[in-house]
Amino acid sequence: MKESVYNVYLLDKEGADCLVYNVLHRSLLRIDNEVFQLMRLRRIDCIDDGVLKVLKNEGIVVDDGLNESDMLKIRFNRAKYSATSRGFTIIPTHACNLACKYCYQGHGDVLSATMNTKTVERTIEFIKKNVTGCKNLDVNFYGGEPLLVPDIVFRVVEELQHFADESGIHFSASFTSNGTLFTESIIARLKDYNCRVQITFCGPREVHDSIRVDKRGNGTYDKLISVLTLFKKHDMAFHIRVDVDQDNLATIDSLLRDLNEKGFGGLYIAFCSISKDICYTEPDWDLEEVNVKELALLCKKAQDMGFTTFPVYIHNFVEKCSALPDRYFAIDPKGDIYKCIAASGYPEHRLGTLNEKGEIVDMDYEAYCTWTLRDPLLIKECAACKFAPLCGGGCSLVAYQKYGSINAAGCKEKELGEIVLTVVKLRYPELFEGHHYEIVEL
Ligand code: SF4
Ligand code: SF4
Repeated sequence: MKESVYNVYLLDKEGADCLVYNVLHRSLLRIDNEVFQLMRLRRIDCIDDGVLKVLKNEGIVVDDGLNESDMLKIRFNRAKYSATSRGFTIIPTHACNLACKYCYQGHGDVLSATMNTKTVERTIEFIKKNVTGCKNLDVNFYGGEPLLVPDIVFRVVEELQHFADESGIHFSASFTSNGTLFTESIIARLKDYNCRVQITFCGPREVHDSIRVDKRGNGTYDKLISVLTLFKKHDMAFHIRVDVDQDNLATIDSLLRDLNEKGFGGLYIAFCSISKDICYTEPDWDLEEVNVKELALLCKKAQDMGFTTFPVYIHNFVEKCSALPDRYFAIDPKGDIYKCIAASGYPEHRLGTLNEKGEIVDMDYEAYCTWTLRDPLLIKECAACKFAPLCGGGCSLVAYQKYGSINAAGCKEKELGEIVLTVVKLRYPELFEGHHYEIVEL
């Protein structure tokens, strides 16, 4: 028997016991100091048979002949080649009604095209052609601001819902929106189409209103609060994303308190680091990113205040990177096809374009194969990294921006231990009562 390569050890400061988190199986065990010392000395053969059986059940020790990266490969391939689900991101327009300070897309000014009617029809046809045999169809509207063109949005959801109903497919739609253009009538209409919305905040009113502003510089905080109230009134599914950098980090407490006071306690909140890695324009201020630990601690604070949350960094790339699944595509306003939504506008990442039959033509097979076959286990750093089952090699586009290739490690930090510690704390707070665990290397 041998120790799993995906174990993370959290040692009680007093040295009384140790928690072992297995990143591959997402299992957690508390072991006493004696077992910990035997693991540290690589004397697994001396561990009591009963204990060994439990350790083996949880994947913390494994058979000598097992290559655990093969198991990880199977998991990646399962996520990649799902036969039942299809996802599409539609960018109906790159135009935007806001001018957020940190916008990586250049405020809808660097890219500003909107889909014409032909492209809308090609997009709908393309999606219909690509969902044969599947059970779930999910369409995400992204921008720019998709609600600048509500006619396109409603045409797409109405036609696809009708098609899905006739084909026995479950249809859902989601919106990555700045939220400011939702009206009561739009919300009431969208509710018929199994929609959910993500709305972004950047801090309490005074901070948010200095960052997320319209083209005239007016803040949007009060508008978003009134939209959230309408979502609640109409039972529309929504969650909040909070973008964080060193400038607004200390103010997020105040945002959370305000949301609680306004009756939005318990909501799902995703915290994301404002990053300059994927950017069409240089940020016009000195952007200092928050690190993984700061983000994780923010999640813990939000959870303590009654919100539902999870460190987005962990989720992002294995379960949430929409470029990973084989049958996932993003369609931009010109009808060009990409694997990654944020790659629209990079000609080298364009897979092809849609023709009038809704088929991809002018195909760049090299780009298609590179994106589709990205395998973190073929990236040297990721293959040797114990966090690979959570991180999955990070964001391909970040890797491209940094190293000129998506086949490179897309992480920002090697040490994801702190985030694992926070995940464990969030899930099992009772284990931390009277204990102060720290990450240790064996
Ligand atoms: S991107 Fe970094 S943290 Fe993620 S698996 Fe690769 S080396 Fe590990
Ligand atoms: S590659 Fe990066 S930017 Fe693109 S979908 Fe995946 S996580 Fe998002």
